[in-house]
Amino acid sequence: MVKNGSVLLRNLKMAQTDLSPSTDFIRTIIEEHIKTNRFQGRVATRFPPEPNGYLHIGHAKSVCLNFGIAAQYGGTCNLRMDDTDPSGETQEYVDSIIQDVKWLGFDWKDRLYYASDYYEQLYQYALQLIQKGKAYVCSLSADEIREYRGTLTEPGKESPYRNRSIEENLDLFKRMRAGEFEDGTHVLRAKIDMTSPNIVMRDPVIYRIKRTHHYRTGNQWCIYPMYDFAHCLSDSIEKITHSICTLEFENNRPLYDWILDELKTESHPQQIEFARLNLSYTVLSKRRLIELVQNGYVTGWDDPRMPTIAGMRRRGFTPEAIRNFCERIGVAKNDSLVDMALLEHCVREDLNERAQRVMGVLRPLRLIIDNYPEGKVEEFECPNHPQNPGMGSRKVPFSKVLYIERDDFHEKPPKKYNRLGPGREVRLRYAYIINYASMVKDERTGEITEIHCTYDPETRNGPPPDGRKVDGVIHWVSAEHSLPAEVRLYERLFRVANPLGEKEDFLKYLNPKSFETITACRVEPSLANARPENRYQFERLGYFCADLKDSSPERLVFNRIVSLRDSWAKMSAQEKQKMA
Ligand code: ATP
Ligand code: MG
Repeated sequence: MVKNGSVLLRNLKMAQTDLSPSTDFIRTIIEEHIKTNRFQGRVATRFPPEPNGYLHIGHAKSVCLNFGIAAQYGGTCNLRMDDTDPSGETQEYVDSIIQDVKWLGFDWKDRLYYASDYYEQLYQYALQLIQKGKAYVCSLSADEIREYRGTLTEPGKESPYRNRSIEENLDLFKRMRAGEFEDGTHVLRAKIDMTSPNIVMRDPVIYRIKRTHHYRTGNQWCIYPMYDFAHCLSDSIEKITHSICTLEFENNRPLYDWILDELKTESHPQQIEFARLNLSYTVLSKRRLIELVQNGYVTGWDDPRMPTIAGMRRRGFTPEAIRNFCERIGVAKNDSLVDMALLEHCVREDLNERAQRVMGVLRPLRLIIDNYPEGKVEEFECPNHPQNPGMGSRKVPFSKVLYIERDDFHEKPPKKYNRLGPGREVRLRYAYIINYASMVKDERTGEITEIHCTYDPETRNGPPPDGRKVDGVIHWVSAEHSLPAEVRLYERLFRVANPLGEKEDFLKYLNPKSFETITACRVEPSLANARPENRYQFERLGYFCADLKDSSPERLVFNRIVSLRDSWAKMSAQEKQKMA
């Protein structure tokens, strides 16, 4: 499946060409409904996260889809916390979800809802089902229920409690709510069909006893509705028209419809399933992400290597790039693994347009210009964006002692090395051409500690009068004027494309080199103004973002968002096709 790090992208055609949002199968269905007046022409969607973790890029796909569709058809999109399982749900997660959806650029106005606000209504619905003879209290143990359920090839067996009278069921269910029974002693089940070929329809459990504190309702309830029961009814209560969810709920659709049909609810949304996003070199499952956070494999949910919205934000990704990515991958009915390089490409594309260019040196090497006057300082006017004069310019000071990138000097330059070395001449970006003179080494370690050069005053920010070619262009900062900075370099979190598809536990495939801190960087003085979340292109190095939490004018900290090397853009159409 995975060859040379290049990855399956089955939705390739969509990802590359289908930029018009009105053509996917979900929108086709919706447009049909509008035409036939199925919901009086209304479009109402919702994004329904369970607040048991932070949102990840897969959720962003669903957010963009639901809010995008509502906006496109003049409808509404609700934000609903699907908080029906008290274990693992917290206010911190709610807060993070609200913040992340907002940051992505979407607005639910006053339509923030909680399934937990519907508990009483849901309970009343359950009573109605019992009264209709369509639900019963079952007193089998969890193991027995599983045994009775049957398999894909064998029908299930009816519970001995299936034919309890309506009165007995009402009595028992009310006493379940009143807290008279131990956890696990009874459940409420829908009475459907134990022989259904669809296992979901074999008398699914719709309520269980669970004495767990709920972050919103506290200890008010000791019974909680199951997801399948709460979800369709919450949609119906909110008069959702199109309940868009991921493919794994396809088998649950008959149950979704059964519950609403039996209860004859006024509103009966249409469930539509689409393929969830899978992204290479990471994992998109809250359970796995929680594992990474809780066991300290990352620094938190917002670790810049995490595929969470909070992590990507902290890394420096823009909401525009993420939205653009979600649009490009499109929606489809078949599962696929999308190449991380495509997401990174979208980030570069956006930052290339918008990020101000600056100079910073990650691993400084002192460079002394022997023939430049001691104490002299010149200021060079440097464009903030070479292709966009509208972004203005700034002054960058130049002096006798500079820092250049250690990598930009080589004692024995390899082939095609277009930087500095003995006998070579390079341009200092926006400044002068310099000519190598000598180097100083640490006697003990042999490490190069200083380079000496001469400069050609005739080449001030322009071509040399004699038209001679130089070996390259390198960036620099003035030693005296530059500012210290810490730079954090990030690589992909996993070293294989599909860590969950491998033989061993996914943690075995964590990339040990996914994070590096460089503390002694030097950046040009204009960055004194860098505020948290400001993004820049460090010339020749990549895009960087002042860290949301740790960067301040007193202590500059930059995260590398992406390098400049765009593996997606470089991939030939043929290579991309091969992945399909
Ligand atoms: P996970 O599988 O990561 O634990 P989940 O599906 O349990 O996620 P929810 O909070 O229930 O997480 O998801 C909220 C919404 O986001 C649901 O409608 C779900 O279908 C959608 N969603 C979750 N993961 C993805 C994904 N990878 N791609 C697209 N949509 C997703
Ligand atoms: Mg879920």
